[in-house]
Formats: sequence, structure tokens, C-alpha cells
Amino acid sequence: MNLTSVLGKLFDENFNRSAEVIIRSPGRVNLIGEHTDYNGGLSLPFAIDRYVMVGISRRVDGQIRLLSNDQNGIFEISIEDLLKSPALGGWVRYPLGVFQTLIARGLPLGGCDVGVVSDLPMGAGLSSSAALLAGVGLALMESFGFELSKSELVEVIHFAESHYGGSPVGYLDQMAIVQSKANHALRIDFSDKSTLDVGLPFGEVAIFDSRVKHSISAGGYGLRRRECEEAAQRLGVASLSLASLSDAYDKLDDLHYRRTRHVLNENSRVSRVVDSLRKGLDVGIYLTASHASLRDDFEVSCKELDLIVDEALHFGASGARMVGGGFGGSVLVLGGDWEALSRSLEVKFNAMSLVEPKVLIVSTTGTLQRVA
Ligand code: ADP
Ligand code: MG
Repeated sequence: MNLTSVLGKLFDENFNRSAEVIIRSPGRVNLIGEHTDYNGGLSLPFAIDRYVMVGISRRVDGQIRLLSNDQNGIFEISIEDLLKSPALGGWVRYPLGVFQTLIARGLPLGGCDVGVVSDLPMGAGLSSSAALLAGVGLALMESFGFELSKSELVEVIHFAESHYGGSPVGYLDQMAIVQSKANHALRIDFSDKSTLDVGLPFGEVAIFDSRVKHSISAGGYGLRRRECEEAAQRLGVASLSLASLSDAYDKLDDLHYRRTRHVLNENSRVSRVVDSLRKGLDVGIYLTASHASLRDDFEVSCKELDLIVDEALHFGASGARMVGGGFGGSVLVLGGDWEALSRSLEVKFNAMSLVEPKVLIVSTTGTLQRVA
């Protein structure tokens, strides 16, 4: 059954009506440009053909009812009570955070039934949270008849996720999901949030989820952010992307120098990838170089991710790299024999008493759009 039919069934069985507006909101993969967003640098994400689908139908009684196939039970609250509420808990803090953000901006919302179905895995680094927020934001716009530009929608869902969702996030996920065009990556310059569409010559990539999450993960991310801030401060620049490598070499200790070198080299790699894509050249070597830099200079990889990258190259990938914050999570593999790679990883992970990585093949065709 396709997602639209699943959503139809959910509405039918639980709300006893059909959805008036249906939005399909994609996940995203970051091709290259890791740990650069909070350093005012460059990234190159694209939207994928895995979606969170959000349906909505207005109600006259001022009640909001929320239901997701991936969560338990219907959550109900009146608009009146929502206005008096701080941030809520559980998954509903995301959709309700969008309501709260829009109401605070004076937009006219009312009661409604909201249903969510999805084939985008949660917590796998493909940004299901931002996909959910973007889907709800656009659904409310279409349903209650107000206009927001794409960049306004990005601001709204970014505020909703960081303030009401309780996760201090950069802008990468929101911008990638709202602003990407099908078969294009979005080059984002985080110094001013300007963007550029870059055509992609490949239709699919493989994401190997290591299913490993090391306990250092959350703290490690915060620590790297702090180290980058310290380096920028010592170099007297507003963001690390404005530093010069020779200056960093003269003024910083080894650790801060290597963090700076990752950020500056990663920004250059994003620019080189954009140039190469425009010339129709393969970009795999830059992905693999990005991984080496994340492993050696930024020190956010782990042995499981390194193993997947090495095996991917062995099985003919043109490039591979860890994606996301690090210390576990997924590896992006460009080209090669994904089936043979899966089989080999199964053997090697089992030999280390680990569950084998899960592979997801995603296409570059995702876009945020109304489908009904
Ligand atoms: P990621 O964004 O990488 O998938 P997060 O931890 O940021 O991981 O977001 C996952 C959370 O987003 C889930 O725990 C849930 O609260 C919410 N979420 C995502 N997709 C759905 C969905 N289809 N239905 C309900 N909640 C969802
Ligand atoms: Mg997320």
C-alpha cells in the first residue's frame, strides 16, 4: 500500500473522515559539508524519496487532534489550552511546536485533525524530525490559507524544533527539506544562509546505518562545538570558516589546529564537489577525504563507521563517508556493489558481536509538496 492510501486509511478509521490537505515532506542526506553548519561554512544536502506524509482537516470546535502511525494513540488539546501551554513532551511537541510558533506570529489557526504516516526511519540521521515539522508547517499554510515564503517557513520550523522541540539544531535539515529541488543538491552557505541549486548526475546513493550509537555521541557533539568556538575566539574571527590555516598553525595548539583544519578543508571540499558536479565529474574522492578528515582531524568517527567506509571502497564505491554528528550513525556510499557490501558487512559485524548494518537505498528525487 502506498503512503497516500495508508494515510487515507488512518483518517478513515480514526477520524471518520478524509484529509482535506495532504503534504509529502522528504528526508535529507548531506552529500558533503559535515560539522560546518555551526561554523558558518558550507554544506551540500539533498532531499530523498523517503517521506513523512501529513494530512489535515479543519474542525469547527477548536480542538486539535494528532495521530501518527508510528506513535501510540490520539493526542487531543484545544487551541485555547495550547495557548496557555509551555512546550509539550513526546512526539507531539514537534507538530504542536509549529502551531505555537505560528500562533505567536499572529497567524490564524483553528482546530483540526492531523494524521501522520511515514516511510522515513526515525532517528537514523535522515532528519525525520524536520520532515515532520516542514510537513505540518506547509499543511497548516494550505489548510488555513496563509502564505509564507520558503525562508519564512524555514525560520518557523527551525524555531519550533529548537524552542519547542528542545533540540538546539542548525539550519541544515530545515533548509534542505524546504528548499531542495528534485535531482538537485542545495549548496548552503551558513554565513548568510544563501543557497545554490546544484544538479546531481547520480540518481541513488546507499545509506548504511551502523546501528551503533556510542555513549559519547551527544556530549561529543557539544564538545566539538565548544572547541570550534574556542578556536575561533583565539583567532579573533566571528566564525571558524573565516580563519586562515596558517594563522591557525601559528596560534593554536595541535587539537584546536586540527579542528580548524577540518572545517576549512571541508568547506573547500564542498566547493570542489560543486565544481566537479557541474563538470559531470565523479565526486567520490572528496567524500572519502571528508571521512578521513572527520576521523583524524575532527575525531568524530568510530571503528564501525571506519570499517563500513573501508569495505565500501573495497566493493567498488567511488567514495564513502560517515554522515551526521558521528560516534555512530550512518555511512553514505556512492557507487559500488551494495549487495556484496551488505553481505560482507554482515559477516564482519557479526564477528565483532554486532548486529549487521541496515542498508537503505535512496533516490535524489525528494521535494516538499502538496499531493492532495
Ligand atoms: P532524525 O531527525 O534524525 O530522524 P530525531 O531524533 O531528530 O531523529 O527525530 C526523531 C523524532 O521525530 C521521533 O522521536 C519523533 O518524536 C519525531 N518523528 C519523526 N517522524 C515521526 C512520525 N512519522 N510520527 C511521529 N513522530 C515522528
Ligand atoms: Mg532530527
